[in-house]
Amino acid sequence: MASDLSHSQAPQAETVFDRTRKLFHMPEGVIYLDGNSLGPMPLAATDALQRAAKDEWAGMLIRGWNDADWIGLPERVAARIAPLIGADPASVMVGDTTSVNLFKVLSAALAARPGRKVILSDSGNFPTDLYIAQGLIGALGQGHELRTVSHAEMEAAVDAAGQDLAVLMLTHTDYRTGELYDMAAMTARAQGLGALTVWDLAHSAGALPVELDACNADFAIGCGYKYLNGGPGAPAFVYIAPRLQESVAPALSGWMGHAAPFAFEHDYRPSAGVGRMRVGTPPILALSALEAALEAWEGVSIHEVRAKSIALCELFIELVEARCPELELVTPREAERRGSQVSFRFHEGYAAMQALIARGVIGDFRAPDVMRFGFTPLYIGEAEVRGAVDILGEIMDKRLWDNEIYRKKAKVT
Ligand SMILES: *Cc1c(COP(=O)(O)O)cnc(C)c1O
Repeated sequence: MASDLSHSQAPQAETVFDRTRKLFHMPEGVIYLDGNSLGPMPLAATDALQRAAKDEWAGMLIRGWNDADWIGLPERVAARIAPLIGADPASVMVGDTTSVNLFKVLSAALAARPGRKVILSDSGNFPTDLYIAQGLIGALGQGHELRTVSHAEMEAAVDAAGQDLAVLMLTHTDYRTGELYDMAAMTARAQGLGALTVWDLAHSAGALPVELDACNADFAIGCGYKYLNGGPGAPAFVYIAPRLQESVAPALSGWMGHAAPFAFEHDYRPSAGVGRMRVGTPPILALSALEAALEAWEGVSIHEVRAKSIALCELFIELVEARCPELELVTPREAERRGSQVSFRFHEGYAAMQALIARGVIGDFRAPDVMRFGFTPLYIGEAEVRGAVDILGEIMDKRLWDNEIYRKKAKVT
């Protein structure tokens, strides 16, 4: 008895997440449930930007490329991202944007499957993925077809495409609903027909364990500013399976992807491995911020993050459904079928989200009627979940969303 008592009175040990939440700037009074769209600023990134600007750019000038090893920065950042996505560092390149990187890997995949004409994707995919495919098809002028179906129809559509299937291009975690694809199963299905896979990890990297190598994925891309907290417009990443790297002939054959950029040769020769996905001069300020942001993952297991994220999402769903019956869950209820976000449909979702933001609870809205909330255990805990639902409940009970000022659409939603 006495030992039980003394046990319960002992100070709680600091958890890994008590430690990580102190690594981020968070404005007073804000409950931030939008780290899936733009991660908050890590304190280390502020320092890194200062250093890169003042000590390196201002102080070293062009000598920074060697003296501060700017030229090695993309590889250092890739080495930090690789373990989060189940990849060898030598299979990951960091730079450009997710959209541009998709162009690179999709063009490489199509070139590797000559004669096959179908790119299959999800009709609910993030628009840039579909737009990039459409633009590439137009530029190639070889009669490729972008075919899209719903998540529920995907397996049948893969089989139906058969030997025409060149590339299965999927976003692992649906940006709107949070629904996950089974990466290993879909990859095997497409590869069984001789096709290649391109996985967009924008809402997966840093959100849940991803095992690119173990799933036998062919190509992947993803985002640096969402769950990786690299800052607005942070550099993105590319993954190429080791077995494919040496056969890729880059469509964007820039000098930084050349085998010897400073030999200034007349003709392009690709660098060894995934380095050929580099195009032009790397953005050192942005990479410096991303490199520092990734320090937050030191000593953090992505499996622990996943466990906490599931607990937070479950609590949120339970509390919102109890408190706000007018909201309809559009995210899969089973934890293993969703990423690290929860979305609800509401006919005045835009106005309701604006009313929430006005009260310090920041999520986002995705057309036509989805309110989306991201859960990021590095800096969000149970107290934030409960606080957010209290405010959401009040907005719904009192119809506080029903106000013209909240219906005025901003340029960015
Ligand atoms: C956020 C997101 C992108 C972003 O692409 P950018 O080139 O960084 O603008 C791409 N794909 C998906 C699935 C996304 O969620």
